[in-house]
Amino acid sequence: MNEQKEWQFYKALVETTKAIPWKIDWETKEFSYIGPQIEGILGWSPNTWKTVQDWIDRMHPEDRESTLNMCITLCNEGTDHEADYRVLNQKGGYVWIRDVVHVLRENNKTTALIGFMFDISERKRLELELEQLNKRNQELLLQDPLTQVSNRQALKERLEQEFKRAQCNQSPLSILFIDIDHFKKYNDEHGHLQGDYCLVAVAQLLKQMFSRPCDFVARFGGEEFVVLLPETSQEEAIQLAEHFRKAVSRIEMPLITAPQKPKITVSIGVNTHGKTQQYLTVESFIRSADELLYLAKDQGRNQVRYYSL
Ligand code: GH3
Ligand code: MG
Ligand code: MG
Repeated sequence: MNEQKEWQFYKALVETTKAIPWKIDWETKEFSYIGPQIEGILGWSPNTWKTVQDWIDRMHPEDRESTLNMCITLCNEGTDHEADYRVLNQKGGYVWIRDVVHVLRENNKTTALIGFMFDISERKRLELELEQLNKRNQELLLQDPLTQVSNRQALKERLEQEFKRAQCNQSPLSILFIDIDHFKKYNDEHGHLQGDYCLVAVAQLLKQMFSRPCDFVARFGGEEFVVLLPETSQEEAIQLAEHFRKAVSRIEMPLITAPQKPKITVSIGVNTHGKTQQYLTVESFIRSADELLYLAKDQGRNQVRYYSL
């Protein structure tokens, strides 16, 4: 290849690559070259891209400071690098760019930078989609599919956190252990599908009535639910449990065709880790709540049981 053919070959190679080649003179901070691909990828014509300031001005404000700091440091010390950032296109949208930078040096001083800007918007979009899917999967792993409240695993994690917090802050933590009365009979009389609707209705009511950001509602299993009430004294928890017990008896079950709409009741054990009663472990705390629930069952159901103050 003679020199001219070689030149044509390299030019064609650089200018047909699906990326934007560029060169900056480090002293003047001017673009001494910007490939024609910029027009196809960003919409800007090459002659609008003259100085480093044009590049900075079109960078997304959220990416500007960190990208500039990184690039200036690495360019001064002569280190090749890559930077991902968003660039304004001519239509007013942003394009994710991966800038691959090679630093040219003479006598230990940076003289110029050369590089390629690759359009990585599609890759970024897929990354974001994957991140959202992973987040959703994590949420689903901790959610009961039927009632959409937290599941037992989520309860275990939350209870441990709240129990530690209550111990550290010396603040009360209350727990309600709730079980639907004679639910087997309900299923037998109305069918399992109606039983499922009933569980959903109870969960909805729980979410509605225990709606402070720190309240936590979970399905413990079957027809049993647990509510965690941080910063809630025993007296307050008993009142809330009573309030909920009464509200349950007023639930109108949907899609029941029988003339006499069925009613349900719940039994509730209320326990509080606080001033008067302190538990050493999460297990003993929850076990006592469960025992109180059984007491409520033994004493005739449709009631709230707790340790006398
Ligand atoms: P008690 O008042 O003593 O709690 O009586 P019970 O009948 O509610 O208690 P038992 O433990 O004997 O029965 C619980 C019933 O809950 C049996 C089971 O079929 C029903 N159950 C558990 N999970 C589900 C579910 O996901 N859907 C429906 N429809 N029923 C369920
Ligand atoms: Mg049960
Ligand atoms: Mg039951």
